[in-house]
Amino acid sequence: MREATRILRATVMPAAAGAPLHQGPVFAAPFHVPGPLGEARYSYARYEQPNWTALERLLAVIETGDGLPEGSVARALCFASGMAATAAVFGTLLRPGDAVVLPGNGYFTARMLAEGYFQAMGVEVRLATTEGEAIALVQGLEAAEEGGGAPGSRPGGAARQAAPVNAGLARLLWLETPSNPGMEVWDIAGLCREAHAAGALVACDNTTATPMGQNVLALGADLAVVSDTKLMTGHSDVLMGHVAVTDEALYAQLLDWRNLTGGGPGPMEAWLAARSLATLPLRLERSTANALAVAEWLESRPEVERVLYPGLRSHVAHAVAARQMRSFGPVVSFVLRSAEVAEAFLGRTRLVTNATSFGGLTTTAERRARWGHDAVEEGLIRMSVGCEAVEDLLEDFGQALV
Ligand code: PLP
Repeated sequence: MREATRILRATVMPAAAGAPLHQGPVFAAPFHVPGPLGEARYSYARYEQPNWTALERLLAVIETGDGLPEGSVARALCFASGMAATAAVFGTLLRPGDAVVLPGNGYFTARMLAEGYFQAMGVEVRLATTEGEAIALVQGLEAAEEGGGAPGSRPGGAARQAAPVNAGLARLLWLETPSNPGMEVWDIAGLCREAHAAGALVACDNTTATPMGQNVLALGADLAVVSDTKLMTGHSDVLMGHVAVTDEALYAQLLDWRNLTGGGPGPMEAWLAARSLATLPLRLERSTANALAVAEWLESRPEVERVLYPGLRSHVAHAVAARQMRSFGPVVSFVLRSAEVAEAFLGRTRLVTNATSFGGLTTTAERRARWGHDAVEEGLIRMSVGCEAVEDLLEDFGQALV
């Protein structure tokens, strides 16, 4: 069975006479538990509830995809947001004295959580801006030069020098590829090989691509982390996240964290998310095709200084992206001359909503530097291309770009 069919079939409940086809929302905190504990599947909704079960079944199908080794299946745990999922991974794996390597150019809130809380609790946070630097920092080797190597440079780049410092091996390498908002692409399989050789676990934030667009577990990551607020649910109405793993022990640790912290989503959100996931294959296909057309159009325009989209041949890591991604996704970043020019573009468009987040049905964009947390040009716009007729988008952009 093809993947799209598998995903759709996974939304159908087991056939029982008189039962609905799809799991409806169930609102309950405690459930009837008349006899010994363990006989009833559900007892208290912080541990498990029917909408989570249906959602996680679906997430596991999507995360397993086609690429996992024979006999290996993904298990997924849903969380109240992408950040709750991120916190679960940090909280489960990091202890005082451990080191974590994070990309310096990824989603800023993950960095803030690591630096603001885990660092204060004795976890060493090491920030990497290139793949070579990431591996050096996992190995506890100090970088020879600041930021040596262009974005997308290969692991083990020449700018590194094996100069051991007392940093020690890292416990966790956190990846985010393509990164938000710079759309940098790192080689997941290569980095996993090197990190595993150094004894580190690898978690990959797969929010921009989605597990359908890029199977990070199949590429070697130990943990897949996704903000399902974005393309996964796709309707701009739900906060949601999940972590997927193939290792049972990791699964048990993450489940324990969720039980203890109460980090799971509300029942309505879980139901909305499962309902929305059924159209992921359709939405991903359409928005990705639109995004490529938009990226190519932007690249042809003299007003645009740079277009950052892994599906373009001009992207510095296009070859890596083409190898590891099945779909390049809906997010296109591009640079206009200045903050004023970028704001003017956003002000003149009629079909682009000026809003943060990405992955919704309708096209949204924002000038990313307005947040002040990312090291990006003032004129960088991160656009999330939606499912509109692409001709309408291009006509609109044509009148807005001056
Ligand atoms: N990871 C990435 C790449 C994101 O862009 C975001 C949110 O923008 C998150 C994680 C956090 O997700 P959430 O807002 O669902 O907590």
